Amino acid sequence: MRIARIAHPTGMSFAVLEGEGPGATAAEVDGHPFAQVKTTGQRWALEDVRLLAPILPSKIVCVGRNYADHAAEHGHEVPSEPLIFLKPSTSVVGPGEGVRLPAVSDQVEHEAELAVVIGLPGAREADRDAASQAVFGYTCANDVTARDLQRQDVQFTRAKGFDSFCPLGPWIETDLEPTDNEIRCEVGGEVRQLGSTKDMVFDPATLISYISQVMTLLPGDVVLTGTPAGVGPLQGGDTVSVSVAGIGTLSNKVVPSE
Ligand code: ZN
Repeated sequence: MRIARIAHPTGMSFAVLEGEGPGATAAEVDGHPFAQVKTTGQRWALEDVRLLAPILPSKIVCVGRNYADHAAEHGHEVPSEPLIFLKPSTSVVGPGEGVRLPAVSDQVEHEAELAVVIGLPGAREADRDAASQAVFGYTCANDVTARDLQRQDVQFTRAKGFDSFCPLGPWIETDLEPTDNEIRCEVGGEVRQLGSTKDMVFDPATLISYISQVMTLLPGDVVLTGTPAGVGPLQGGDTVSVSVAGIGTLSNKVVPSE
């Protein structure tokens, strides 16, 4: 099932997306989609609504160097346990929204990633089984990074935390076992990153279990699972697209600093 958040003619809601192409529709969900998904009976043509970021997480937990080829391109070894950091909730933007280049960075880069959306009951000190149960679904993410600031600061907070540095979308796919799914990043139609989720060092259940020993993951929280090799620069005017096979494509335009 595809779950989106939409702006529709009378407000905003979660929605179940059905069909492809011109006949595609969005069926309004009553409340949140984490337990039994109930629709209200209200339905719109997909072209009459706007897709928003599919979830507004309380936090985004990210994992660094979770693909050996990406760790190697920056001269790092693969870590022996997951390397985690946070992006603030205010970094989230939805499909089609702008990624704004901050004036203080000269090197903003894309990182195409599979994003896990946590569902009920969340995860706290979860073993792998409980961690798997806590997965609501998957979406695409771009872990936008000011690489020069990441090198300059000891902490990743500034480099990873600017407003608009976490595009999410276009929707959440709840029926997916991402054991071997292509991850692709294109900038202006040129393929920059091409990898597969099979090459993750730590799989989503391992990551959720590990993170949940540190902090409670609440329903709606998002875990970014790391990026394959090929990260590279974004310039004002670019269109950057992240695709994960079995989910869809998340596209954003890059807005230059003023
Ligand atoms: Zn990343």
